[in-house]
Amino acid sequence: MSASQVDQTDPSQDPLAGIAPALFLGLGSDGVYARTTLYEQVFGRLVALVDRLRDARAEVLRFPPVMNRRQLERSGYLKSFPNLLGCVCVLHGSEAAIRAAADRHESGGDWTTSLAAADLVLTPAACYPLYPLVAARGALPAGGLVFDVAADCFRREPSRSLDRLQSFRMREFVRIGSPEDITTFREGWIQRARDLAGELALPYSVDIANDPFFGRVGQVMAVSQLQQALKFELLIPYYERAKPTACMSFNYHREHFGQVWGIKASGEAPAHTGCVAFGMDRLTVALFANHGVDPGRWPASARRALEL
Ligand code: 5GP
Ligand code: ZN
Repeated sequence: MSASQVDQTDPSQDPLAGIAPALFLGLGSDGVYARTTLYEQVFGRLVALVDRLRDARAEVLRFPPVMNRRQLERSGYLKSFPNLLGCVCVLHGSEAAIRAAADRHESGGDWTTSLAAADLVLTPAACYPLYPLVAARGALPAGGLVFDVAADCFRREPSRSLDRLQSFRMREFVRIGSPEDITTFREGWIQRARDLAGELALPYSVDIANDPFFGRVGQVMAVSQLQQALKFELLIPYYERAKPTACMSFNYHREHFGQVWGIKASGEAPAHTGCVAFGMDRLTVALFANHGVDPGRWPASARRALEL
């Protein structure tokens, strides 16, 4: 269970196997865990630290773990990551039809063959529900807008690595405005993230990145994203010589969401958007992996930053 290239079939090879039980309890599916008291205590301190970093102008919104399916379809998610998306399916129909499907399970059959898609998908990133909300408010005010959003996110990537969860918590600061607004916002946050990792005494690097776009067409999208430098990541190794884990991302979507949702910056031009995503679970695991399972013994600067 690790961020590394370690053979996942042999848990004894995993440098993080020792700390896993102090943080997570298995719930029957890989990458879906109950979080322990210890883990949630540190997670809560990290949430409070990110709260303190928030722009005073930011509007705070919290989203549920599900979102409207049509909104996500319109966002273009199916073009980019159809393999990661989870859709809510339910038993529709008459009482008799629903009863018959459920009873199939009781008699050893498969009730799931009667499922049909509902109007909901599992939220795959915290900022998707925001853009249609902003569009519904009409033209942007001068200077644009900044938001603080969060959601429990789902991505269908079952894995036994501690840094690859199917259900994880994402916090984002989102900027909507002109291209210059987004560039300034993103540059500022890359520097603040470096400072944050330094205070938390975590080894880190910042590098240009691409999203894991699906399939062969996806490879072209990834190259284009790299060429335009649209994504950067804060990478933290979980232990010495581990392949570093992306714990934050700094994204410039250009006019994509402005165009899709008709968000107008000034005049008729579509607004530009960008977001800074904190992988809150990855950051929390990074702290335990680097500093151990006793926060009382963590480096002084990390304890100070987290008010531990
Ligand atoms: P992005 O939208 O850039 O892929 O994801 C934003 C952030 O969410 C990432 O930088 C990372 O910290 C977090 N994240 C993405 N995928 C996973 C995952 O599988 N597990 C966990 N724990 N966090 C993830
Ligand atoms: Zn985002």
